[in-house]
Amino acid sequence: MSEGTPTVSTHVWDANLHFGYWSSAEDDSSLPEATDRLTDMMIQRIRAPRGGRLLDVGCGLGKPACRLARATGASVTGISIDSAQVDEANARAAEEGLAGRVRFEQADAMDLPYPDDSFDGAWALESILHMPDRERVFRQIARVLRPGGRLVLTDLFVRAPLDEESGGAVRTFLEVGGLNPAVHTIEEYVAMLRGAGMRCAEFVDITSETLRNYEMLRDSLRENREELAAVHGAASVADWERAFDGCVTAQEPGYLLLAAVVA
Ligand code: SAH
Repeated sequence: MSEGTPTVSTHVWDANLHFGYWSSAEDDSSLPEATDRLTDMMIQRIRAPRGGRLLDVGCGLGKPACRLARATGASVTGISIDSAQVDEANARAAEEGLAGRVRFEQADAMDLPYPDDSFDGAWALESILHMPDRERVFRQIARVLRPGGRLVLTDLFVRAPLDEESGGAVRTFLEVGGLNPAVHTIEEYVAMLRGAGMRCAEFVDITSETLRNYEMLRDSLRENREELAAVHGAASVADWERAFDGCVTAQEPGYLLLAAVVA
């Protein structure tokens, strides 16, 4: 997709390409405030040693990694499969005076180009859902972390078995978003981490605090329907609307925040 082509998220997100977190229905924080808040919840949990080395798996435009480096004094290597994002993220690090400590590289999380035990900690902020094989990514992350290193992540999950309607809504959302078609319960999630050599240290269900994002996507789509239809076609826009609407109604998929430790 060429630079500047509007997508659904263009009108919603800034350089944080992840959901916002609102503590209650009365919380009227702006989206940039709410997305930074989720980044900060990740920062609290990664427990980076000052001067340590951290890996950002699926770095987007680099805003979260720069915030992480500033808050902790650690060095951060961010990777994305998308080289245009990597260029933009490196430009951001340079602009923020962090180029010596934060750098971004084009790489595939399914096959990390780093030796074993390279990092003290890693995070995957709303990125695993874009990758085709979670277990493989977890094994890769566990390999490049030192023993005792922490992984912090957010991801979609299912809180309870879904009825037919909710299940259909979730499947549509994942398909339309080009996301991994699998979503897991927390038990399955913990088992995947264990299989990769990691122990789940903390799990927080933040579905209620993030559900507002589905509404924002749907409302933005409706407001920008004509512009988006001119670029992507009316049929795609109708599919997206159906998908977001389904999530709003079903209040699914759920959203988790989790920390794990390499055994
Ligand atoms: N963590 C960022 C971006 C989230 S969007 C933020 O919160 O702002 C998902 C990111 O995962 C994008 O940067 C996308 O390019 C990246 N991604 C998707 N599949 C990937 C893969 N196989 N390897 C590395 N990065 C990947």
